[in-house]
Amino acid sequence: MATAINHFIGGAEFAGASDRHAPVYNPATGEQSGRVALASQADVRAAVGAAVAAAPGWARSTPLRRARILNAFLRILEERIDELATVISAEHGKVFSDAKGEIQRGMEVVEFATGAPQLLKGEFTENVGTRVDSHSVRQPLGVVAGITPFNFPAMVPMWMFPVALACGNCFILKPSERDPSASLLMAKWLREAGLPDGVFGVVQGDKEAVDALLNDPDVQAISFVGSTPIARHIYETVARTGKRCQALGGAKNHMIVMPDADLDQAVDALMGAAYGSAGERCMAISVAVPVGEETANALVAKLEPRVRALKVGPGADPEAEMGPLVTKQHLDKVRGYVDAGVAEGAELVVDGRDLKLQGYENGYFIGGSLFDHVTPAMKIYREEIFGPVLAVARADSYATAAKWVNEHEFGNGVAIFTRDGDTAREFAHDIQVGMVGINVPIPVPMAFHSFGGWKASLFGDHHMHGPEGVRFYTRLKTITSRWPTGIRAGADFIMPTMK
Ligand code: NAD
Repeated sequence: MATAINHFIGGAEFAGASDRHAPVYNPATGEQSGRVALASQADVRAAVGAAVAAAPGWARSTPLRRARILNAFLRILEERIDELATVISAEHGKVFSDAKGEIQRGMEVVEFATGAPQLLKGEFTENVGTRVDSHSVRQPLGVVAGITPFNFPAMVPMWMFPVALACGNCFILKPSERDPSASLLMAKWLREAGLPDGVFGVVQGDKEAVDALLNDPDVQAISFVGSTPIARHIYETVARTGKRCQALGGAKNHMIVMPDADLDQAVDALMGAAYGSAGERCMAISVAVPVGEETANALVAKLEPRVRALKVGPGADPEAEMGPLVTKQHLDKVRGYVDAGVAEGAELVVDGRDLKLQGYENGYFIGGSLFDHVTPAMKIYREEIFGPVLAVARADSYATAAKWVNEHEFGNGVAIFTRDGDTAREFAHDIQVGMVGINVPIPVPMAFHSFGGWKASLFGDHHMHGPEGVRFYTRLKTITSRWPTGIRAGADFIMPTMK
């Protein structure tokens, strides 16, 4: 029996008025586990209406009160992390330990947001003119919405809503329809933590729900994370409405391996960064760029046996290093990219296409694949595959490697492995990418810094969480004040009466 997965509006689950639904699968078995409601325009309107009603009260509440509610939510997440991780693993497919890892990273943003009283402190200047003072405050926007991808059903929403709520906004989440259940658990736990009804809502759905949110006049800002074509569409549509928008897109992250790098460390880093979560991470490394033939030969020789030995299994298997892909369609797409790489003339060193797991024959499993001699002209180099496929593109020099990174359409994350401080410094300074790692393969910024890429990996001005998140979810108001001279002389001994 498929579980019904509903919306969460005004503090309670809501089945919605639409009769459209989508199946949700267990990617390890290929069986349908749930049936998610797809919101109509009227369902979205109901969620926005509940948020509009709650907004003035929440905006007036003290930052300290909001921080305390977020603190209570944090404690619930700590206590029930296994429950949430189990739900994520069952719908997304990622291994249980990795699901816990994403919750942990999301909780760090909640922790950051509990600093609301400090984060919302304004600025004050005495005497901007003679006897004139000026101060600035950051005020909430009102009702804001977040649209999130399948690959981090807890962490990516938590990049957004803790900061938005801490700043005094109401938040409507439109999670991915492929793994929607985590959003409902979080909504219930926020309520349990003391969040007033209507302040946080969930609308399940697809393009119809998204378009309704983008065009709703009561929604003041849109945060989006997903693929680049949709991110571009969201940004362009939202810009026409005059709302705020931050739209994070896809990625193709390179890791340059210099001849002086610690090769064993680089190989360990590549294994986790390329194949962890089956490559379905926006910060996954999908291109390794060894500099020089000797480095390339040694790197591929060390990678090959490790990729062959990858332990693939269902998310609940504690031995598994990599789970299945999210859907059958995505599995076909990733297989298609491996076919394309072969057709384009890249050398397929390890072929993961035919992996079959006993007992899980209908699951969406694929083994790790490794390509060598990939060139920037190839489709498997240019496009985001979002699967466990690592391309090795051999560069003759550091300059060539850096040029490839800079010329790529995407600019989310990048890493260099080297022992040379001069190269590392020049790389960090010059490279055209938003998040840079030096001997760190996945340089995801901590919650108190901000997350975001450059070029086709982010449309808009603000990165997510950290100080940029606070700026995105607040409007600046600057007050300039002058007071007429008051009565400061003499004393009045007569009983005061109205004059
Ligand atoms: P997606 O673009 O298919 O979907 C993202 C969201 O947009 C979902 O909620 C979906 O329902 C909605 N959507 C899909 N099609 C739409 C349409 N035509 N109109 C309006 N809304 C639509 O992305 P996905 O497959 O869920 O996630 C994977 C992608 O997300 C990858 O490209 C990955 O790189 C990217 N991603 C980026 C980051 C980042 O920080 N830059 C982080 C995580 C994932």
